[in-house]
Amino acid sequence: MIRLHNTASGKVEPVVPRDADSISMYVCGPTVYGEPHLGHGRFALVFDVLRRYLEFSGLTVHHVSNITDVDDKIIARAASEGVTEVDIAARYEKSWWDAMDALGVLRPAEAPHATDYVEDMVEAVAGMLASGSAYETSDGVYLSVDAVEGYGLLARQPLDTLRAGARVEAGGEKRSPMDFALWKRAKPGEPVWPAPFGEGRPGWHTECVVMSLDLLGEGFDIHGGGIDLAFPHHENERAQASALGRPLARHWVHNGWVTVGGEKMAKSLGNYTSLDDLLARSDPRSYRLLVLRSHYRQPLEVTVRTTKDAAEALGRLDALSRRFGAAGWLEGEVRQRAGVDQKAAGELGLDAAAIASFCSRMDDDLDTPAALAGVFEVVRQAHVAGDRGETQRGEQLAHTADWLCAALGLRLEAGAGGAWVPVRGGAEAAGGGAHAGEVGTERGTEASTYGSGPDEEVLALVEERDRARAERDWSRADALRDELAVAGWTVEDTPQGTKIRRT
Ligand SMILES: [Zn+2]
Repeated sequence: MIRLHNTASGKVEPVVPRDADSISMYVCGPTVYGEPHLGHGRFALVFDVLRRYLEFSGLTVHHVSNITDVDDKIIARAASEGVTEVDIAARYEKSWWDAMDALGVLRPAEAPHATDYVEDMVEAVAGMLASGSAYETSDGVYLSVDAVEGYGLLARQPLDTLRAGARVEAGGEKRSPMDFALWKRAKPGEPVWPAPFGEGRPGWHTECVVMSLDLLGEGFDIHGGGIDLAFPHHENERAQASALGRPLARHWVHNGWVTVGGEKMAKSLGNYTSLDDLLARSDPRSYRLLVLRSHYRQPLEVTVRTTKDAAEALGRLDALSRRFGAAGWLEGEVRQRAGVDQKAAGELGLDAAAIASFCSRMDDDLDTPAALAGVFEVVRQAHVAGDRGETQRGEQLAHTADWLCAALGLRLEAGAGGAWVPVRGGAEAAGGGAHAGEVGTERGTEASTYGSGPDEEVLALVEERDRARAERDWSRADALRDELAVAGWTVEDTPQGTKIRRT
C-alpha cells in the first residue's frame, strides 16, 4: 500500500482507496493562456509517475484533470491580440497536449473544460447563497470563509496569520479580506453566462469542486497539484465543498517548486526558459529523469548542470539497452504489460528482489530518487555480470531495469548515442582475434573522426579499464565505467577491448 504525504494532515499516510482496487484522482490542470513552462511539466510528470506506479501496483486509476478555459488571463490575452477567448484557449490547449505528448504523459481519462460546467457551477453558487455561506456584492458573489469550519487547513497556517496576510481591497464590500469570488458579474466585452444572481462568469476556484465531484463523486481518493495551489486554490475548493456539505478529496498531494538555483535563466546562457525550449533542445525523457531524481515534495533545480546530468544518466540507461538488447525484448503483448503489471514480472523471470526494493521505495511517499538509485544499481550489476561473461544474469538484470523504467514512464531506446570512437587505431575494424580481457587500447591513436574526440584523460581511463578487465578486477572495471559515464562516454565491452562513444 502506497503511503503519501497528505497536506491536510501534514503527515505521510497510507492511501486507502474509497473503492476496492481503484483510485480516483483529480489533478488541477492548466489555465490555457500561454505556453506551458517547466513547472507545468513537473506537476504533469509527478502525477503521471504516481498514476503509472498505482497502475503498476495493480490498481485501476480514474484520472481526471481539467482545462481552465475561462479566466482573467485568457480574457486579457484575447483583448491584447484582438481575437476571441475561444481562439486563445484552443491555441494554448493544443500547446498543452503537444507538450504532454512529447513528455510521454498519459492522457487523463477525462479532461473536463470549465466552460462545459458553467450551469453546474451556477447551481452550486446558488446552493451556497441559499445556505447563507455565500453573499452578493455589487461585483459578484463571494464565499464567506468565516462560515466554513476550519478554513485554512491546507494553508497549514492559523486563520489569524492568513487574515493578516490577505490583501485588503480599499472600498471593497467583502466581509473578510479572505472571502473569494464564486461568481463575477458581467463586464462589457467579457464572456458571460446567465444566472439567477445576475449574468457573469464563474470564479476560478469553483470549477474544480463541481467537476471533481461530478466525475469522481464525494470523498474521492487523491486531489493533486503544485504546492502553489494548496493555498488559496485548493483550500478554497475545500471550503466550497464543505459549504455544500459534500466531502471533497481525502488525500491532498502537492509537488514542490521548480527552481533555477544561482543560475540566471537566459537563452543566451543556454538555459531553459520554457518547456517548449527544453523539449526542443533535449530528449524529453531526460526531463522526466530530472524530475524523478528529486523527491516530488522537494524543490527541483533546473540548471544547465542538472539537465546535463540527467541526459547523461539517460544515456547510461540507453547504453544498457544497447548492450543487452533490453529495449527489443519486450514486444507486442508483453511490451504493453511492461510497467503496468507487476505480476507479469514474476512470470517473465525478472529479478524479484530488485522489483520488491523498487516498490518499497515508491510506496514510501513516492521516493523516486531512491527507487531510481535502485534501478541504476541494477544497471551496474547487469554490466558487472556481462563483464564476467554471465550473459543470462546480465540479461535478466537488464530486462528488470527496463521493466522498472517502464513503470516510471521511461522507455529505453537502443538507437541513441554518438558514433563509436576508434581508440585502437583500426584493431576493431580488423576484427583482431583478441579474446575477452586482452588489453586492446593504444594510447594516442587517431580519434578525430568524432567532433570532440576523447582527450588523454578519457583514453587513459579506457586503457586502465582494459587492464582491470584483463586482471579480472571487475569492481575496478565497473568503477571506471562509471567514471567514463560521468565524463559523457558510453562504454561497451567487445572481444577487442573497451569501446566508447559519446552518450
Ligand atoms: Zn483546481
